[in-house]
Amino acid sequence: MKLTVLGSTGSIGTSTLDVVRKNPDRFGVYALVAGQNTDTLTSQILEFRPKLAVVADEPAFQALKVRLAESALQQKNWPELAFGPEARVQAATASEADFVMSAIVGVAGLEATYEAIRHHKRLGLANKEVLVASGRLVMQAARQAGAELIPVDSEHNGAHQCFRAGKREEVTRLLLTASGGPFRDTPTDALWRVTPDEALQHPTWKMGRRITIDSATMMNKGFEVIEACWLFDLPPDQVDVVVHPQSSIHAMVEYNDGSVIAQVSATDMRMPIQYALTWPERHNAPVPRLDWAQPRTWNFFPPDLEKFKLLRLAYDAQRAGGSATCTLNAADEIAVEAFLNGLIPFPAIAEVVQETLERQPSREAATIEEVLAIDAESRALARRILTETAWTEAERSRPVTI
Ligand code: NDP
Repeated sequence: MKLTVLGSTGSIGTSTLDVVRKNPDRFGVYALVAGQNTDTLTSQILEFRPKLAVVADEPAFQALKVRLAESALQQKNWPELAFGPEARVQAATASEADFVMSAIVGVAGLEATYEAIRHHKRLGLANKEVLVASGRLVMQAARQAGAELIPVDSEHNGAHQCFRAGKREEVTRLLLTASGGPFRDTPTDALWRVTPDEALQHPTWKMGRRITIDSATMMNKGFEVIEACWLFDLPPDQVDVVVHPQSSIHAMVEYNDGSVIAQVSATDMRMPIQYALTWPERHNAPVPRLDWAQPRTWNFFPPDLEKFKLLRLAYDAQRAGGSATCTLNAADEIAVEAFLNGLIPFPAIAEVVQETLERQPSREAATIEEVLAIDAESRALARRILTETAWTEAERSRPVTI
């Protein structure tokens, strides 16, 4: 099976290539698609020898040519090189690609993922924005094309496995677990003083920067609720979040006879990635096993929706429908970037997102171009809100109330 890896240089991308590395007789690489990291991309080209390599823009394209020229690979053996959105779509839709891993961060991955689905590709879905920003369009396209969409995010992948235990109409609710992030036990007031470095310390997972901050605010869990609603065709009120600090159970599905099926595995993304590649079969995976001979305790708590307001806003946005979830994602990305750059305190991420949602009119997008237009408008508004609002030292020490 030949893969196109969208976001090959990222955390999910490199884990995907590790699964390929460990199964050379089963998987190979057709295309590698990255953003700016031409050093890592060059090593990946040397190891996996794709037919096509794509980067985000012209400067990265020039840098990639320089890196390859410095490498041991003779020019006649280079892959075809390209850059930009059209090249990403080409990599995702080419007939040589049997499987597309969607692991670009942000809306830059949207069009290529959507087109891969329309072209009936089997798709491993990690990129959150695809369903958060354009769930209705993407699921419609998947149904029309009969495309297989296998979630890679550990919670949805776990749910996908739990759903195999019964019929869809027998399901009463889905429970997504959350580690609670690094600030699970931090008092709300103290959140005004947390630094980007503290927020980047996730207790159980090693991931990209944006998703790590989104985990600390629990925005990530909110995105997962929205994704689950689209993937499994559930209303938000049938998707619950439970805080489970050990992150061993990823998801649980409750059936109408009261039975609850849970999916349990080590915190290693290569398991769900391999599952997406081999489904409906299972194969040996090179991931740690839980040692059931060791005594262990698992805890479960309800999430604090007052402290983690972005989780509540995600439920509200999904209930509201239209483009609210697209705006939610766009505003969050801008606010997270501002926090990481030291421009706003941690709880202000939720304030910026809430205000953007209140001021951005919602509408139903009929095309991906419209989704991208709403995304751009929401980002511009979030940036304006950032410049309009001054977060003073005094505000940093008060508890936030939304
Ligand atoms: P990373 O930040 O580690 O990687 C992001 C990838 O996207 C990199 O390969 C980056 O390229 C690429 N990229 C960024 N912008 C562009 C662009 N304009 N064109 C092409 N490629 C681009 O993120 P993660 O791997 O952690 O996450 C990827 C997605 O998967 C996110 O949506 C995240 O929410 C989701 N996810 C991640 C999980 C995890 O465990 N990491 C779990 C579940 C979901 P470069 O580095 O070369 O610039």
